[in-house]
Amino acid sequence: MTTQLHDSIRAAAPGLRGRLLANQPLADLTWFRVGGPAEVLFTPADEEDLARLLAVLDPAVPVTVIGLGSNLIVRDGGVPGVVVRLGGRAFGGIDIDGDRLRVGTAVPDMRLAKAAAEAGLDGLAFFRGIPGSVGGALRMNAGAHGGETTDVLVEARGVDRRGNLRSFTHAEMGFTYRHSTAPEDVIFTSALFRGRPGERTAIEAEMDRVTAAREAAQPIRERTGGSTFKNPPGAKAWQLVDQAGCRGLALGGAQVSEMHCNFLINRDNASAADIEALGEEVRRRVRETSGVELHWEIKRIGIDAPIGKA
Ligand SMILES: Cc1cc2nc3c(=O)[nH]c(=O)nc-3n(C[C@H](O)[C@H](O)[C@H](O)COP(=O)(O)OP(=O)(O)OC[C@H]3O[C@@H](n4cnc5c(N)ncnc54)[C@H](O)[C@@H]3O)c2cc1C
Repeated sequence: MTTQLHDSIRAAAPGLRGRLLANQPLADLTWFRVGGPAEVLFTPADEEDLARLLAVLDPAVPVTVIGLGSNLIVRDGGVPGVVVRLGGRAFGGIDIDGDRLRVGTAVPDMRLAKAAAEAGLDGLAFFRGIPGSVGGALRMNAGAHGGETTDVLVEARGVDRRGNLRSFTHAEMGFTYRHSTAPEDVIFTSALFRGRPGERTAIEAEMDRVTAAREAAQPIRERTGGSTFKNPPGAKAWQLVDQAGCRGLALGGAQVSEMHCNFLINRDNASAADIEALGEEVRRRVRETSGVELHWEIKRIGIDAPIGKA
């Protein structure tokens, strides 16, 4: 990719205070460690900086936001347009007032769980096991161990593609299983959560249980993207994958985890194309054996590499 987009943004918005870089590798910003570069990677200094970029950017230029890359396959040809990644002090704060927590969306879910426990606020311990950021949790309605983002969110705030500040009540977030109907173009910048008064030691014990359960059941030290497919109504995706004989199935450097067969892993220098093709092969086999259509929970972004370049 050329530096043309980067140069045109610099010319249109000379006052941007964040980091704007052309052709930036993204693989190391994701758990799978695969994929090509961002045409432009922008790390805004704060919400106003983000809004300014979005306001001046040609509406035809695609914008993609990434969090901690724990639910993401970046395709091998990279991501055209601007990739936004929030970080730093402006998006990394946690302010607690009574039972409410105002949190920047770059905050890792695990840190949110810990802060809530330290403040004696219950209901957020499930975040302890989710390796994403609060921004990703809002978009995905992340959840585990009987809790979901929807249970504790009061409201969220963000910036839309035209640079307008927007806020969303809980109802406007339209949460369903691993999904929010909030407009796709919104980049969330902060969230307000509410906990229940609780006993710090009991909450910490609950978090320890969450951690132990994950260590035992999930390949959390692998290059993976967590659950690959959503659970279809009334069924478990991992069981369908298992019944289709896909446990351990390999394609190129990618493999269906032996430990938890709804997880794909980058076992040996896989390309994004290997991982995605393996996921599609699993979907095909599940469709053939059980008639069920699995839907990707993992988000796939960007474009395939030109033939022969993956
Ligand atoms: C080992 C492992 C275990 C996991 N276990 C669970 C689990 O138990 N439960 C669960 O729900 N998930 C689980 N996941 C998946 C993942 O952690 C969650 O989906 C998480 O919410 C993704 O957050 P992220 O910051 O990594 O987002 P990314 O993976 O970077 O992005 C995911 C989506 O969120 C969007 N997004 C990210 N930030 C923002 C923002 N600021 N504004 C708007 N959209 C944004 C992206 O555009 C993308 O569509 C697991 C993943 C791994 C690797």
